[in-house]
Amino acid sequence: MKNRPNDQDCVFCAESTAIGSGRFVNRIPADTYNEETGEYLDGYACAGCMSRECEVCGSEVAMDEDLWVRRKDGSSKFALNIGQCCWDPEVYVEGD
Ligand SMILES: [Zn+2]
Ligand SMILES: [Zn+2]
Repeated sequence: MKNRPNDQDCVFCAESTAIGSGRFVNRIPADTYNEETGEYLDGYACAGCMSRECEVCGSEVAMDEDLWVRRKDGSSKFALNIGQCCWDPEVYVEGD
């Protein structure tokens, strides 16, 4: 593994995820391959870059705000990964 001088930076947006940057707590180990430069980056991703799509409405959900739920009526075989946007305690129970 090659050590980059900026290995505390998010591999996607290059924002620092070092302690004190405000992104340290939510950073997660990540790697990426840049097809343009042929460069393989190994390091961290900030929460913003790891945001995901709500499986119900498709809107963007921050990594630390997503929920794993199942439909109470049993119609979902698998857990759904949704955001607060679609969270409804009448319809879903939390848990995967
Ligand atoms: Zn980022
Ligand atoms: Zn949603």
